[in-house]
Amino acid sequence: MTPNSQTLFPHLPERLSGLGTLAENLWWSWRPRARMLFKMLDRQAWKDSGHNPDKMLRDLPVEVLAAATHNDEYLWHYDVVMTLFQTYLTRRDTSLIGGPLASGTVAAAYFSAEWGLHRSLPFYAGGLGFLAGDFLKECSDLNIPVAAVGFMYPEGYLFQRMREDGWQENVEDPVEREAAPISRVMTPEGRQFVFEIPLMRPSIFVAVWKIAVGVNTLYLMDTDIEQNDPWNRKITARLYSGHLEQRLRQEIVLGIGGAEMLQQLGIRYRLIHLNEGHAAFALLERIRDGLQEGLSFEAAREAVRKTTVFTTHTPVPAGHDVFPYDLMEKYFHPYWADLGLDRDRFFKLGGHPRKAPDGFNMTVLALNLSDHNNAVSQRHGEVSREMWRDLWPGKALGEIPIGSITNGVHVRTWLEPKMKLLFDRYLGSGWIDDHDNPAIWQLVEKIPDQELWQTHYWLKIKLIDAIRERCRRRWVENRTSPSILLSGGAMLDPSVLTIGFARRFATYKRADLILHDLSRLKRMLNDRWRPIQIIFAGKAHPSDDPGKRILQKVFNICRDPEIGGRIAFVEDYGEQIAQYLVHGVDIWLNNPLPPMEASGTSGMKAALNGVPQLSILDGWWIEGYNGKNGWAISAANPNGENRDAQDADALYQILETEAIPLYYRMSDDGIPHEWVRVMKETIRSNAVRFSARRMVKEYLRNYYTKILASL
Ligand SMILES: *Cc1c(COP(=O)(O)O)cnc(C)c1O
Repeated sequence: MTPNSQTLFPHLPERLSGLGTLAENLWWSWRPRARMLFKMLDRQAWKDSGHNPDKMLRDLPVEVLAAATHNDEYLWHYDVVMTLFQTYLTRRDTSLIGGPLASGTVAAAYFSAEWGLHRSLPFYAGGLGFLAGDFLKECSDLNIPVAAVGFMYPEGYLFQRMREDGWQENVEDPVEREAAPISRVMTPEGRQFVFEIPLMRPSIFVAVWKIAVGVNTLYLMDTDIEQNDPWNRKITARLYSGHLEQRLRQEIVLGIGGAEMLQQLGIRYRLIHLNEGHAAFALLERIRDGLQEGLSFEAAREAVRKTTVFTTHTPVPAGHDVFPYDLMEKYFHPYWADLGLDRDRFFKLGGHPRKAPDGFNMTVLALNLSDHNNAVSQRHGEVSREMWRDLWPGKALGEIPIGSITNGVHVRTWLEPKMKLLFDRYLGSGWIDDHDNPAIWQLVEKIPDQELWQTHYWLKIKLIDAIRERCRRRWVENRTSPSILLSGGAMLDPSVLTIGFARRFATYKRADLILHDLSRLKRMLNDRWRPIQIIFAGKAHPSDDPGKRILQKVFNICRDPEIGGRIAFVEDYGEQIAQYLVHGVDIWLNNPLPPMEASGTSGMKAALNGVPQLSILDGWWIEGYNGKNGWAISAANPNGENRDAQDADALYQILETEAIPLYYRMSDDGIPHEWVRVMKETIRSNAVRFSARRMVKEYLRNYYTKILASL
């Protein structure tokens, strides 16, 4: 049903036709060798395309491609990569899911409202999206067949531009659909495949795009097509509409539309996995299918519960969608009759026992219709069981059926290629294919301090160069004042101990905690011999004004001359900046208000690259911290008054008495050996435990294989 790469890239020479197939499969993005293949064609064009081979191949002059067909070195690389790619796609081992599935059947349908896969696909807001992306990539690496469902957001997420006064502006940066590495799903007659959402009036029509992610496919639904009226066209315009009714309509498309789409495409799946409650309407659609096969409502519901996995992601109440009943009635009035339910019974599916008057709760719906529920860290499991215990009256807290599987990150995506080369040298060849074997990581001790330090230092320079280059470009474009350059990081210095803080600017993340006592902080920033510097990045949600105010405070402090240019704010945090930061800073800072951080994943990315954490004991760090691999910020009296002041004091103390002295204690060879020991311990103890491989295997062991075996 797809146009082949010959029609997508008509000027690609026959000898290099595989480049077209490669460009259409994101596998290239996590294989440095495959990335090189595009980069080698034309470095500048690669950069200009935003590392998007699809766009690059379209724009590249025929002569450049023709020249490559006469370059023996290039052809040698090409053949190696194409062989690796073919081998990868045709692996047969399915032992992890207990044997092969029937053709046209996948193990799981994985639904997520956001997908963080690559900088050229701006279909994410934050951690939830990257978790989905890393999960899908790892499933591919483990040869687990998954059909992934999400949205094509033509408006993307918003580009962040800081005004002179430090207020965040949201600039629309529409996705060029034809130039993104995605393609339309077509009918056998060569028309675009379009389907209609069942039982919705007026009708909503959906077109579908797809992208290959290794052996798997992500299907992206798009309502911005002619068949729809203007309001319907806007349903999938952008991530998380702030408009409640439009948001409900998004979730109808994601859940009901997603299930309908898979059915019409003939994709069968053995279980359904919901990444957060946004897609929970899909479970209603599955019940409706059961009824159509002749089951009673109860029997159909049981069948759905047994084959559903639901992952909840946040203890923040606003993170759980609740829709008013009148709005629900407007859209589901015809639908509940099709389920054989009346209004009351239908609303009960999403009614919180104590807070039912609030409306229809998507997390409650998911928990009611799934037997396999999990939180995303051990602590988040405890918090979630407490949070939702009312749904199981009479059960003791420990028996509430919400387990936990701690998040992990995709190693091939987040490990910097130079760091990988270093690991290749000392962890044994083939380590990466076996990277969830803890024994491998003991070999980190074998890496000479000097090599680890130099690699890290090189990455820090690369980070600071990239930030300064952004400043320089702004200066050249002449749309900025010197103070903006200062806050953009023009004065950053690679020899200074560098702290990174990058994440969404939600208030509970307390980005401004380190600014709590400015005079104490200034002493550290401006210390003549042992200074520190801080790099901030992150966006506030467009409708989160308190978050924007924190951002404004941070941004304005960057410009205070007394800060000496040692605090920088990097605009438009996204996948690319995240890569630079988690590879190149010296310390990764995280100080949310516990227990609001369900897991956190950016710190795991940093740890993989040898960057130790300085973090509140919350989320994953409760499991990750061992006393030798970084620092735990803990308030003396966490339940007392003034939590922020206490946490800030604890943070300053760690910096003043431990981290700064350790970092600057260089031996005669110019290497801070004790610091490097912390870096090694960070990699040794955190890399394997917080990998997506460990995570996916836990999902397999706890849920997937049990469900598959029971069918
Ligand atoms: C990893 C990542 C996140 C999530 O980070 P948290 O620590 O979970 O907040 C958000 N945005 C980007 C761009 C990321 O790469």
